[in-house]
Amino acid sequence: MNETKAREAICAIGASIFNRGLTAGSSGNISVRVEGGWLMTPTNASLGRLDPARLAKLDDSGRLIAGDPPTKESFLHRVMYEERSDTGAVVHLHSTHSVAVSCLAEVDPTDVLPPITAYYVMRVGRLPLVPYYRPGDIALAEAVRGFAGRHHAVLLANHGPVVAGANLDAAVNAIEELEETARLYLMLRGAKTRFLTPAQVKELL
Ligand SMILES: [Zn+2]
Repeated sequence: MNETKAREAICAIGASIFNRGLTAGSSGNISVRVEGGWLMTPTNASLGRLDPARLAKLDDSGRLIAGDPPTKESFLHRVMYEERSDTGAVVHLHSTHSVAVSCLAEVDPTDVLPPITAYYVMRVGRLPLVPYYRPGDIALAEAVRGFAGRHHAVLLANHGPVVAGANLDAAVNAIEELEETARLYLMLRGAKTRFLTPAQVKELL
């Protein structure tokens, strides 16, 4: 994707995410790999009101070369690109249902959500829970790094999901699938439920 198209796509998808209530206020951030570096949403910017011309442009070493300063959570994105060479885009949201699940005491931290649907298994797969760290703590980046090589999607405890994809559409589709699955999981809690069996999951992977 060329840089102009990437800038427009980030703003269009940001508005779509914001307008559907998938992240609120100035939370959530998006990055896309482009020739010579990355485009990233700016710090304190609402995904609902992004300006293509003001997106942060970082060079290959992560230095700001144009636009507004990048999100303070840029390290979450950098870790994904560094650990997963096939990454073309990263999306991080404070999406309500995923955050709710990230706060539950009894989830399996090695795989937070059960295999409810085939699409969740195919687009997200195993979802590890990254322990809580305060915002800005560099230890969070290192904790995410520990999972990023094996997982393109992680859930930060009491915070929200981070998802990498080969391109922006793939990353957005996966994080939306994750959020919908978190919503279904909360709806089904307490009800006797048939999840996909290990054999059915294996067939999809
Ligand atoms: Zn965040």
